[in-house]
Amino acid sequence: MKQFKVPDKIFMGDNIVATAENVFGAYGKHALIVTGPIVSRSTMTASLERTLDSERVKYTVLSKIEGEPTVGMVELGVKMYQENGCDFIIGLGGGSPLDAAKAIAAMTVLPGSIADYKGVRIDDEQLPPVVCIPTTAGSGSEVTKYTIITDENSGVKMFLSGDALLPKMAMLDYTFSNGCPKSVTVATGLDALTHAIEAFISVNAQPLSDALALSAIKRIMRYLPQAYRDGSNANARREMSIAALQAGVCINNSSVTLVHGMSRPLGAKFNIPHGMANAMLLKVCLNDMEMSARHNLARIANYLRIQSVDEIDASEKFVEEVEKLIEKLGVPTLHDYGIDRDAYMAAVDDMSFEAIMSGSPSHAPREYTADDIRELYIKAYK
Ligand SMILES: [Zn+2]
Repeated sequence: MKQFKVPDKIFMGDNIVATAENVFGAYGKHALIVTGPIVSRSTMTASLERTLDSERVKYTVLSKIEGEPTVGMVELGVKMYQENGCDFIIGLGGGSPLDAAKAIAAMTVLPGSIADYKGVRIDDEQLPPVVCIPTTAGSGSEVTKYTIITDENSGVKMFLSGDALLPKMAMLDYTFSNGCPKSVTVATGLDALTHAIEAFISVNAQPLSDALALSAIKRIMRYLPQAYRDGSNANARREMSIAALQAGVCINNSSVTLVHGMSRPLGAKFNIPHGMANAMLLKVCLNDMEMSARHNLARIANYLRIQSVDEIDASEKFVEEVEKLIEKLGVPTLHDYGIDRDAYMAAVDDMSFEAIMSGSPSHAPREYTADDIRELYIKAYK
């Protein structure tokens, strides 16, 4: 039976972190703020700290989440949480600090290492409350029960999931993504687009995720080029923040499919940020799924008011629109990104196996075998 889950509270607005009153104290007396080195020195962290001070909530800052989180970073976070007597966690940053915050919360309670929980659902455990404040418009991690942690020993990106990982509160301050550099705006924005499209064509789609997916896709197709051209366009940033959160709710209640299944091993093997790995695979994967997802892709085209003569035409035109967007945003090919052809081809078998094992391709509108995925990896390089 399908269910629809979101955090207990979602706040959205301009400057809401600076102006929040009696919000954080409800979750505890001492927060572990999980963030990265750049954000930790920003006005965003200063603003959060002032609000916590005004609520008399103590805090300890872990500012070492650089790049995508690893098992070692999670262990460091658990140590700091316990040594400082923290009782809740605030993730502040892009998808990485938010994912790290959830994993740290889990490991303050669960025995062993986070690496032991690959493929194990974390559903019923009582974890410390997690509050997520995103500073990029992309991952949607602030509203999902997922976290991706890289096992630095095996090089595998572990996809961890479970209801207990869903944050208790998401605070979407529209002003927080204003300083996002161009490359991050593109990668995270296309990640959000991939979430919305995949959730909409997934076999796990449901009416409420469909409504949010359509709304997110419309926002992204319109406002991502604007945010890319002019990062100081506050309206475009606001619309992208809303779209990313909507798309996050979509994957939390439907699922991702082929693109994410393939992008995780690619990202882990060649150290490509999550959003960029998705962006580089989106065109090939979407074209491959076009026939099996045709009815739903045509529904998207109709919602976007793309002129068409029939369902096939509508579906193909939407795919073309996505291709044009990818081009307009200057997404590099795998080759132009600097990935060596021989190293890539040597990794294709392992990546195909990892993609299938993640389970994500099984939610696609048609069945995919490891051989199918192998072909797609090869096609993506060309
Ligand atoms: Zn993603």
